[in-house]
Amino acid sequence: MKVTTDCWAPEWERIEEKVLRQHQLTRLQETLKQATKSPFYREKFRQAGLSFPKISHLEEIQQLPFTEKEDLRQSYPFGLVTVPLEKLVRLHASSGTTGKSTLIFHTKKDIDTWASLVARCLYMVGARPGDIFQNMMTYGLFTGGLGLHYGAEKIGLLVVPSGSGNTQKQIEFFRDIGTTLIHITPSYCLHLAQVVAEMELLPERDLKLRLAIMGAEPYSEATRKKLEKALNIKVYNCYGLSEMNGPGVAFECPFQHGLHLWEDHFFPEIIDPETGRVLPEGEEGELVLTTLQREGMPLIRYRTRDLTRFIRGICRCGRIHRRIERIKGRSDDMFIVKGVNIFPSQIETVLMEIPEVDANFLIIIDRKEGLDLLTVQVEIKQEYFRGDLQSLREIQEKIREKLKNTIIVNPMVELVEPGTIPPSTGKAKRVIDNRRL
Ligand code: ADP
Ligand code: ZN
Repeated sequence: MKVTTDCWAPEWERIEEKVLRQHQLTRLQETLKQATKSPFYREKFRQAGLSFPKISHLEEIQQLPFTEKEDLRQSYPFGLVTVPLEKLVRLHASSGTTGKSTLIFHTKKDIDTWASLVARCLYMVGARPGDIFQNMMTYGLFTGGLGLHYGAEKIGLLVVPSGSGNTQKQIEFFRDIGTTLIHITPSYCLHLAQVVAEMELLPERDLKLRLAIMGAEPYSEATRKKLEKALNIKVYNCYGLSEMNGPGVAFECPFQHGLHLWEDHFFPEIIDPETGRVLPEGEEGELVLTTLQREGMPLIRYRTRDLTRFIRGICRCGRIHRRIERIKGRSDDMFIVKGVNIFPSQIETVLMEIPEVDANFLIIIDRKEGLDLLTVQVEIKQEYFRGDLQSLREIQEKIREKLKNTIIVNPMVELVEPGTIPPSTGKAKRVIDNRRL
């Protein structure tokens, strides 16, 4: 494939480092001024002994207090809004993966800025007028639907707001109208690939898909490769969270070495989640983001709980917006079994590299007689269930061994037929921890 380095917004994408830092400082100062219009930040800054926080260097942001998800919950619904109600045009909410969802309000300008940012991302990976874009994310309060929708329309793609679910119908659409581009979660895409195979379709012969924008949950390089092969597409990683608009905060360029975090819109820091201290460039920690363009509900030093690191150096595409490594997971995704810290993404990485593994898996943790028990249920391709029992045992043993080498803990592995684990059409729930019941 020819690598495109074209820009949708060259003045911002190709901005020089010095100009960008100056822009960030100015925008940060304006954002702080705007934030103090909300009851929440007035109180937060007062408590920190800063009635009007002023900064004259970007590093001084480190003196400001963090904003946490819990703060948003506590100030539900309007506590962080900085404009009169008549200026607000849209409400979104986080999907509530880790508790009660949080609300985000946008002005007209905010929605337009977000759409331009998404347009920038899509254009960067080669989406152009003439592409048919099927947005297979849930529409509604979740930002994956409308967020991409407006950005795609802005560039002039033909947008099909199909939402998630109804997989066979979606695939019929692919065939009938010649969809070229999809936006989908990786877990749903694994299911989609399974249904395409069940319908006996050959992507290179029967479909015109060429690009998939994939995000909303962590996934490994192995999953990307698996999906690229199964659907004959190129997959680009898209990161975002509703508190920072939604999708489009960071996005892979065609060189796919990390995700460019759009620093003209967000000021990123990576901190040690325990101490709250900013880490040296390149170390893994929690991503903290400050909005630089938001009008209706600016957020200062928002703790995303997402774990990543900055990738050093300038990307081959020439954009200087810093790159983050694919998100490893949330700090609160981590579970501890027999004293060992494990991320679901570690298990996913191992499984998706094993050719016999099909689309889905589930991690179940129990405690029996004071001992933690880790079980990994894995769907195996149908053809292996037609073979003999011995070969299934060998697969099971291979999976157990590979998992143990990565996560240290020795898991029980249960092989199940495709379709046994309920498929996800949005964000997958991969862990059932019965110890918490
Ligand atoms: P919730 O926090 O309730 O899930 P959101 O819908 O705002 O609500 O989801 C944002 C979260 O989804 C991010 O904080 C991150 O944990 C996850 N996420 C989004 N995009 C990606 C991605 N490309 N890779 C990994 N995780 C992602
Ligand atoms: Zn790049």
